[in-house]
Amino acid sequence: MLVAGCGIAGSLIAAGLRDEPGVEVTCLEKATTVDHADAGTGVNIGPNGIKSLSGFMPEQADALVKASLPWKRWTIALTSGEDLMDLDLSEVADNDGIRIRWAELYALLRGPLGDGVRYGAELESCGIAGDGRLTATWRDRTADAVERAEDIDLLIGGDGRYSKVRTAFSGDNPPMFLGVCLYRLLFPVGPDCPIDDYGQWFNGPNRLLAYRVPGDFVYLAGSFPIPADSGVPDAMKNAEALTAVYRPATGTPSREAGFLIGAIERHCDSIHWARLQEASILFRPAERVLLVGDAAHPMVPTLGQGATQAMEDACVVVDEVRRALREDRSLASVPAAVEQRRAERVRFVVDFSRDATDTMLAGADPHAGTLEKRDPPFQEKLKRLYRDVAMPG
Ligand SMILES: Cc1cc2nc3c(=O)[nH]c(=O)nc-3n(C[C@H](O)[C@H](O)[C@H](O)COP(=O)(O)OP(=O)(O)OC[C@H]3O[C@@H](n4cnc5c(N)ncnc54)[C@H](O)[C@@H]3O)c2cc1C
Repeated sequence: MLVAGCGIAGSLIAAGLRDEPGVEVTCLEKATTVDHADAGTGVNIGPNGIKSLSGFMPEQADALVKASLPWKRWTIALTSGEDLMDLDLSEVADNDGIRIRWAELYALLRGPLGDGVRYGAELESCGIAGDGRLTATWRDRTADAVERAEDIDLLIGGDGRYSKVRTAFSGDNPPMFLGVCLYRLLFPVGPDCPIDDYGQWFNGPNRLLAYRVPGDFVYLAGSFPIPADSGVPDAMKNAEALTAVYRPATGTPSREAGFLIGAIERHCDSIHWARLQEASILFRPAERVLLVGDAAHPMVPTLGQGATQAMEDACVVVDEVRRALREDRSLASVPAAVEQRRAERVRFVVDFSRDATDTMLAGADPHAGTLEKRDPPFQEKLKRLYRDVAMPG
């Protein structure tokens, strides 16, 4: 079995099947071991990701929980200081979520895999040969050589948003932009830091999201509306223009908003810029091929569900491979079984994530929109999101 990509989904699949007799897993990762050592910024994993992992891979769940900070509350306020929502996640979830740095998350997920991962190995092509065999080639960057697998019984595309596995079998998956710029920043903080658990601060549709992660860092994701058909305007990439959109028209910002605005001013040059986008869902692009995580279902990160859903996917894949082995079935049966268990839930999460973006769109009223999020329909959906995960079969 070949897994392309050792990200969230790929690393968990490799970990879950590492000691499974009857299956040999090769995991290709285009990054070298050092490439992601200081990767990215921060990430929050929803309670559902941890619940799912605890059910299928309790060791991995314990390791993640121990190395992270708990996500227990979700607050929403205006940058002027007016509080709009203070949600205790235990009202809608069975357990806490987590807050962690990407670099730490990668290290925890990949560390135990040892030589089960081929780092610096970039999948270049895959397809079905004339005689029906499933084949793949990859470039080993460390040796500058091309290698080939000739008869793969199951190929898993865990190679992220621009998946080569997906493209090889079903073409490009064009993005749909929502008209929102989302940028990320990680910065060190001292004892005066007023930011702790997951909070959001709005000034009109312009939003600051921040929380603390282990190691005395704060992760900040700021956003503001942009035309859906344009990139991030260069004029917005300077501290003065950027911070202006979060300053309340009347009065001074709250202590938290002021702290974050100050951090943007100081660290503007380290910002990672992106645009909110999603694309279509596809689990099975061909026989014996399964897509997972962002390769299968790129979604907007509004509810922090991209990596969380990649975890849920990985749990079900591990369960279905184990089940196929137990029942002496071919691994070719796994993609359909995974799709059967995941498709409806993923559709729900993708749609819910998009709907929850309403308060970030041009012209939105975050006041009215947030009050709606306190009402039963939204809260019931949150309960479904955080609680209704697949459990071992
Ligand atoms: C601004 C922003 C904020 C986000 N915040 C959150 C959040 O708080 N919580 C959350 O749950 N999600 C969040 N997400 C989403 C999350 O980052 C992704 O959904 C998640 O990383 C997907 O996991 P994955 O395993 O599918 O892919 P990835 O984590 O992208 O991993 C793919 C792996 O495949 C490797 N790869 C790619 N191509 C090849 C190839 N050809 N050969 C070999 N290897 C290859 C890559 O190097 C990578 O290691 C956020 C996303 C964005 C853009």
